[in-house]
Amino acid sequence: MDYEPLRTKILARSVQDKKSGCIVWRGAFDVHGFGRMNTPEGVRSVHRIIWLYVLQQRGEEIEPGMLVYHNCGNRLCVNAEHLYEAPLQEPRARVHSPLPAHVQEHIKVRAAARKNRNA
Ligand SMILES: [Zn+2]
Repeated sequence: MDYEPLRTKILARSVQDKKSGCIVWRGAFDVHGFGRMNTPEGVRSVHRIIWLYVLQQRGEEIEPGMLVYHNCGNRLCVNAEHLYEAPLQEPRARVHSPLPAHVQEHIKVRAAARKNRNA
């Protein structure tokens, strides 16, 4: 898969935060607060696509079992300089930084809707 067009789409839907340097995704996200988008291979994490694009530029591929993490703590960030890959055993504290407020709100609303459906 060529990641270049996906990267272009992601950056077009993201806004740079001048203070943190984060490039914040404004599109869809999952229940864990990670940005998601449709690709020819199904729904994928946007930060992972950015990382795979960087590797592709270098003529490399991600190794099996490696995950892409944020060192800035912002799960919606797609700044390649804020991403790194590591195995799943990476300390969870880094993965589970606080969710952005609008994501927390969205998850709350979704959970309430589910509760109402089941009641
Ligand atoms: Zn960032």
